[in-house]
Amino acid sequence: MNFFDLNLDLGPEDMDLKATAATFAREVMRPTAVELDLMSPEEVIAAGSPFWSFMAKAYKLGYHKLPFPEAVGGLGLTPLQISIIMEELAWGSFGLTLALNTTLDAAVALEAGEDFVNQFTIPYCSCTDGSVVGCWAITEPDHGSDTLMTGYPSFQDPSIKAQCRARRDGDEYVINGQKAAWVSGGTISKSILLMCQVDASKGHAGSGIFIFSLDRPGVSKGKALDKLGARELNQGEIYFDDVRVPKKAMVVGPDHYEAALAAHLSLTTPMVGVWSTGLARAAFDEALNYSRERQQGGKLLVEHPNVQEKLFRMFRTVEASRQLCRAAFVYNWSKPPEKRAPEYGFAAKTFATQAALDVTSDAIQILGGNGLSREYVVEKLFRDARATLICDGSNDSLAIAGGHSVAGTYPRKP
Ligand SMILES: Cc1cc2nc3c(=O)[nH]c(=O)nc-3n(C[C@H](O)[C@H](O)[C@H](O)COP(=O)(O)OP(=O)(O)OC[C@H]3O[C@@H](n4cnc5c(N)ncnc54)[C@H](O)[C@@H]3O)c2cc1C
Repeated sequence: MNFFDLNLDLGPEDMDLKATAATFAREVMRPTAVELDLMSPEEVIAAGSPFWSFMAKAYKLGYHKLPFPEAVGGLGLTPLQISIIMEELAWGSFGLTLALNTTLDAAVALEAGEDFVNQFTIPYCSCTDGSVVGCWAITEPDHGSDTLMTGYPSFQDPSIKAQCRARRDGDEYVINGQKAAWVSGGTISKSILLMCQVDASKGHAGSGIFIFSLDRPGVSKGKALDKLGARELNQGEIYFDDVRVPKKAMVVGPDHYEAALAAHLSLTTPMVGVWSTGLARAAFDEALNYSRERQQGGKLLVEHPNVQEKLFRMFRTVEASRQLCRAAFVYNWSKPPEKRAPEYGFAAKTFATQAALDVTSDAIQILGGNGLSREYVVEKLFRDARATLICDGSNDSLAIAGGHSVAGTYPRKP
């Protein structure tokens, strides 16, 4: 029995991909992440930091381009394979897995079918030294959940004013404003997938998706953000002061924006759930190993029924997370954008991230005082898990938007 993979249809290629990613996660990602976790945000991204040697190793193996199609230099993996590899990488580090996937969102732009997009995706996919980093920016200092709650009435409320806006000027758009300190890869990225308002009369629904390089006049960046968890992930503001981009840089316009964003969240939310499953499994492994070595009451912790019960609950939670997140990701990836089901993505993300918090907390309990110590990795995993409940949409607001959708569209049963 191969624990932690209930799928009966994994072939030899899937198992090879899983084993290779697991080795990379164990030998490279985990030790790098632990080292970076203790550093300041500035030190993490300074030249010569272990972050950059990690990026080079990961890019060489193609782990930065898992979701990209072969047509632009990606690996052409199946959604099941993407999901399997991602979970393994996140076992090593949630933050570094996110750092490698700040351009996952380019998938949404690729769907727009624009050749223009290839100017960004091809150099990104062909990069082998970790130097080409992208980002996606939607969150603003005053608008987090507002920007993600597609299908919810507030999304179309024109009285909610965006802080980053684009206006048409001849053959160009002129962008002004700022995106929040939460933009992953924000201070180190060379290009951006920017979601900003174009038509204020439609509220956040009147936004567009732009893709362009950041080496243009008027762009500036904030300092690297200091935070509780996922500390190995760089984040920071991006400011726009009369930044001019060609009109074709807008790959999705206001007429299609809400549908495009919903389709995009249908992929990213279950993927955050997949990463959280890997993170939770890491905590389970730590707790199980520890319980097999530590003695209390004259026997190993693992021999006490209450510890076995806790371990079983953790095992069950990880397995349930995987099944829901994998199924939601594979389903949504396999469907055309208009046929995707965001509510399954939201269900997967909210379930798996809460599960990661619960499992990492249980792991701390099993380690006792040592679980709180920096000598053991579970306290880091707990801090990382806390960040997952907010990343890619806070669980509360995703649940509200998901509930609104389910209540409005779920068929009435006789
Ligand atoms: C690790 C990490 C990575 C991230 N990466 C990126 C990135 O790459 N790019 C990017 O643009 N952003 C990114 N973010 C930002 C993230 O998407 C936002 O933090 C998230 O959408 C929540 O927004 P907020 O922090 O402004 O919280 P707020 O929206 O201010 O919400 C605060 C609280 O109020 C609740 N709330 C908000 N609105 C409602 C409502 N209408 N009804 C009821 N309750 C409500 C929320 O659920 C939450 O509990 C990242 C965040 C994290 C933690």
